[in-house]
Amino acid sequence: MDFSPSPKVEAIRTSLRDFMKKEVTPIEADLRRKGFVAMMPLLAEKRSRAKETCLWAAFIPENLGGGGLSLTEFAHMSEELGKSPIGHYLFNCQAPDVGNMELLMEFGTPEQKERYLMPLIRGEIRSCFTMTEPEFAGSNPVWMGTTANKDGAEWVIRGHKWFSTGLEGSAFAICMAVTHPDAEKHGRASMILVPTDTPGFERICNLSIMGDRGGDWASHAECSYQDARVPVTNLLGGEGMGFLLAQHRLGPGRIHHCMRWIGICERAFDLMCTHAATREIAPGKPLGTKQIVQSWIAESRAEIHAARLMVLHAAWKIEKGGTSAAREEISLIKFTVARTLQRVLDRAIQTLGGLGMTDDTPLAYWFAHERAARIYDGADEVHIESVARRILRRYGMKDR
Ligand SMILES: Cc1cc2nc3c(=O)[nH]c(=O)nc-3n(C[C@H](O)[C@H](O)[C@H](O)COP(=O)(O)OP(=O)(O)OC[C@H]3O[C@@H](n4cnc5c(N)ncnc54)[C@H](O)[C@@H]3O)c2cc1C
Repeated sequence: MDFSPSPKVEAIRTSLRDFMKKEVTPIEADLRRKGFVAMMPLLAEKRSRAKETCLWAAFIPENLGGGGLSLTEFAHMSEELGKSPIGHYLFNCQAPDVGNMELLMEFGTPEQKERYLMPLIRGEIRSCFTMTEPEFAGSNPVWMGTTANKDGAEWVIRGHKWFSTGLEGSAFAICMAVTHPDAEKHGRASMILVPTDTPGFERICNLSIMGDRGGDWASHAECSYQDARVPVTNLLGGEGMGFLLAQHRLGPGRIHHCMRWIGICERAFDLMCTHAATREIAPGKPLGTKQIVQSWIAESRAEIHAARLMVLHAAWKIEKGGTSAAREEISLIKFTVARTLQRVLDRAIQTLGGLGMTDDTPLAYWFAHERAARIYDGADEVHIESVARRILRRYGMKDR
């Protein structure tokens, strides 16, 4: 297998770098100072410029209005976009809309596609995914309190959710709810589309994350369903298929996230090396002459390189045999790249000293907000356990 970027991927990377240099670099300092929400009108302008390129919603097939990239091609794009905190949003491939679009594409009815998917692809609306609940451990996703019961031609949904990314400003939520309490544990829940203006659906607040409540697409909300009623036709996929859909959603999603994290690592690495090469700790003595800094640089280079190859390999396996054929690789990259991200960011901040703690670079923002990488999409420990159990089963270990 050859993981070197194809001429098509090289061209994509070049055009993205040009776009980011022209449209994003000049406004990054302002974004950090004022916050995303204050800059939304300008970001809307930038999004319309991104839409004019052939890379808008690039993971969506061309016949639906996207860029038609394969998983591996989009992985390279995701790395490039990850170098800026707003890259994915500008090109309409931010989480959780990407995963929601993929679900609707695969499992939506023609009416659901018309009403929810097409406006999402066009970037006219946004969406969120409400699964995690404050009262139940999200790491055990078959365990939840939200229920949806049929009453005539409607689902009546009752429950409490949190960490719904991008809920503020979303047109609809995908709600994971128990619809079949007596079924076997993986057949108990279903996914239901809920417009956010449905009576009974309420955004309680945006959660304060490391001191930042954010806003709009860059926020995570707590919300409640208090007998929220939607038509039975709002069911996504089949009844009791919630976990199957969730699994389906997470495979490619982890490739996207991991490559975004690698993009962050590359930007941090660049800042670290620039500073080490130019900051003098004594006249004529750059910081980079210190062995410990050299070690941070060399170790970071090795870890980023290894992480990228692991992710591209997992993407290749998914493309070849589907998500189920790459379960182990998907878990491996989730915790490996999240840890690499944290280590590289930490070393970069240490290299920059006090400057690294300021908002003059994106490092502090990422250090605060990307700590979550080790928690969302399955806490690292869950993936570690699952990989180890698979391996040990091959050695004959029996567990129930
Ligand atoms: C920034 C961010 C964005 C998010 N976005 C969304 C979203 O859009 N929609 C949504 O529904 N959810 C979202 N989540 C929620 C996320 O999926 C959950 O936080 C995650 O699944 C962990 O669940 P929990 O928080 O309930 O932790 P718990 O399940 O309570 O786990 C707590 C800790 O226990 C440990 N642990 C758990 N299981 C094991 C195990 N088997 N072995 C060893 N240790 C274990 C882990 O260290 C874990 O961090 C988001 C979370 C964050 C932080």
